[in-house]
Amino acid sequence: MNGGTRRIWARLVDMAIYYVNKNSQSDGVHEVHKGNCNYLPHPENRFYLGDFTSCHIAIIEALKYFSSVDGCYWCSRECHTR
Ligand SMILES: [Zn+2]
Repeated sequence: MNGGTRRIWARLVDMAIYYVNKNSQSDGVHEVHKGNCNYLPHPENRFYLGDFTSCHIAIIEALKYFSSVDGCYWCSRECHTR
């Protein structure tokens, strides 16, 4: 897929870039954010997970790196469980 096709496809399927915070919250949970979130951690504190069509896939990916993860309340509320 070239860049243009990829961009159109990404819009069609509502794809987003996801990151996980390398630093845990006070409760030990690593939060997963979309790339456009206002609460996205600083570049040195976040780990790029990939482009996904839903935060649920991003959560599964994040679980490969951290045992306790959750969606951000602000950008991934459908994955926010606590
Ligand atoms: Zn967020």
